Amino acid sequence: MTAATKSYEFQSDVQQVLHLVTHSLYSNKNIFLRELVSNASDACDKLRFEALKAPELYGDQPELRIDLDWDKDARTLTIRDSGIGMSRQELIDNLGTIARSGTRKFLESLGEAQKADAQLIGQFGVGFYAAFIVADRVAVTSRRAGSDEAFAWESAGDGRFTLEPSDKAERGTTIVLHLKEGEDEFLDGWNLRSLVRTYSDHIGFPIRMPVEKDGAPTDEFETVNQAAALWTRPKAEISDEEYQAFYKHVSHDFGDALAWSHNRVEGNQNFTSLVYVPAKAPFDFGFDRDARKGLKLYVKRVFIMDAAEEMLPAYLRFVRGVIDSDDLPLNVSREILQGSRQVDKLKNALVRRVLDLLEKTAREEPEKYAGFWREFGAVLKEGLAEDPANSQRIAKLLRFASTHTGEREAQVSLDDYLARMKPGQETINYLSADGWNAARHSPQLEALAARSVEVLLLHERIDEWAIGYLNEYEGKKLRNIAKGELGRAELGEGAPDASQQEERAREASALVEKLKATLGERVADVRVSQRLTDSPACLVMGEYDMALHMQRLLKAAGHEVPAGKPALEINPEHPLLQRYDAEADAARRDDLGLLLFEQAQLAEGAQLDDPAAFVRRMNALLLG
Ligand code: ADP
Ligand code: MG
Repeated sequence: MTAATKSYEFQSDVQQVLHLVTHSLYSNKNIFLRELVSNASDACDKLRFEALKAPELYGDQPELRIDLDWDKDARTLTIRDSGIGMSRQELIDNLGTIARSGTRKFLESLGEAQKADAQLIGQFGVGFYAAFIVADRVAVTSRRAGSDEAFAWESAGDGRFTLEPSDKAERGTTIVLHLKEGEDEFLDGWNLRSLVRTYSDHIGFPIRMPVEKDGAPTDEFETVNQAAALWTRPKAEISDEEYQAFYKHVSHDFGDALAWSHNRVEGNQNFTSLVYVPAKAPFDFGFDRDARKGLKLYVKRVFIMDAAEEMLPAYLRFVRGVIDSDDLPLNVSREILQGSRQVDKLKNALVRRVLDLLEKTAREEPEKYAGFWREFGAVLKEGLAEDPANSQRIAKLLRFASTHTGEREAQVSLDDYLARMKPGQETINYLSADGWNAARHSPQLEALAARSVEVLLLHERIDEWAIGYLNEYEGKKLRNIAKGELGRAELGEGAPDASQQEERAREASALVEKLKATLGERVADVRVSQRLTDSPACLVMGEYDMALHMQRLLKAAGHEVPAGKPALEINPEHPLLQRYDAEADAARRDDLGLLLFEQAQLAEGAQLDDPAAFVRRMNALLLG
């Protein structure tokens, strides 16, 4: 330490993340090397980009590379890059704070037991702090490209770091790991080489290591990786392991990708894309719908920027990967990207690739696809609204809970549904409700269940909104069976025809008139139901009205909602209606009629207007 040495404290989040990383990732300790090399590669990418406008940044050192070196006596491992480097402030900001939104929430959401779970911290993205898994002291010296000052950052991972001027001469960053006791495997050239080949072979810059003589490193360096950007290599030569290693570099994900698609397009536009679907959503997925990242734009092999927002629609925001265009200008800016027809074409091509990939996964590996759906299904559904041009393709990828499986998990596709439709049935029937139980036990399902007609059960909040954008699939109309009247289109052959329905309505017309008088303004109508077999009554909205539970949801969120009134549909053969019909005492009959209405409200999930009055009526009936 000198007089110029200043001491700083880590931001408290850093301290916690550091603790989690070093304590839960020990069994995966090798990953520190992949993380540091990944950062060095990013730094080289950044320099190459900045140098497009300011070539003088290269100075007298035009090579971009990453060197790995070790010293058995000093027990140090060194990673040195000739990338962009960091200024004093960047050292403080980048290595002393965590900029990721949602970090605090993530840390708070972890229970004590979960804090040791490597997968969870892995989701967070591990990064620079992984160095402390194997090192008890980390010394970083850095000189930013174009700057005449260099600085030294150092920490023992104990909550503090120091900063002082350094005499580092070359541009870039040097990281010296003072290895913990017992970590001698990282002082072994053969082992280091094999780690680089396993985890970092795909890095597009040369990774160099000293040639060894008699087991000791010499001053001569040789390149140990392929040093060609992975996506520029022929598909046939790339192993799954290499694709997965590259995925970790672009996505900052700790786990494997679920699936990927690598394509070269030549013709009008020339570009290469490599897109990945992650297996797990990152912890901060959904905190911030607009902060999209993970799709890197390259132009002629030069990294330009993270352009997920420009290149992918929001409903595909889970996709990670690379697009490398031969045609865009190297000086392309975010503004240019946003208005460009060329970019629109690239974007359309990417969307097509991703939808192809998802379709293929669904077709060939349904188990995997089920995993995808659990993680990202809710996001993909947004596409029905966001991307009408692709809505049929998106619809094919949707999965639903259904009366056919009876399970809460969404497993049924629209194609499955079509294959099971009854003769004469013309509509794809669904029911949307406030939750799983409300959906599967809804009285609205009775007549359909009696005929074994399948109904898709939409029980998540986004469902009713999203499905509203899908009018039909394969020429079949999507039909909310809780609205309007049901007929043959919904129920299939053998359902009562219009004249039979009229006959039944005529028989019950006196009963219906009585109920109308009892309920008055509370309902839009009272009519004989085609839906019910077991329940006495249910509430039904008009075919084009908003579902009652949606009305409640929107009201609760402070929206003005047109107060559509439901109709009460009755099952005239039900004993309770017969009892209502036969009751001579007018007051008791009205009580019964109101109870029927209130029951229907409760079954639908509504809150009663006057619950105390309901209880009184109910008790009178129980005692009577
Ligand atoms: P991430 O790579 O996900 O941004 P890291 O924890 O790995 O997170 O690194 C934090 C930041 O520190 C990087 O974003 C980068 O700005 C900076 N950094 C790390 N290593 C280097 C390096 N070798 N050269 C320049 N900057 C670096
Ligand atoms: Mg990193």
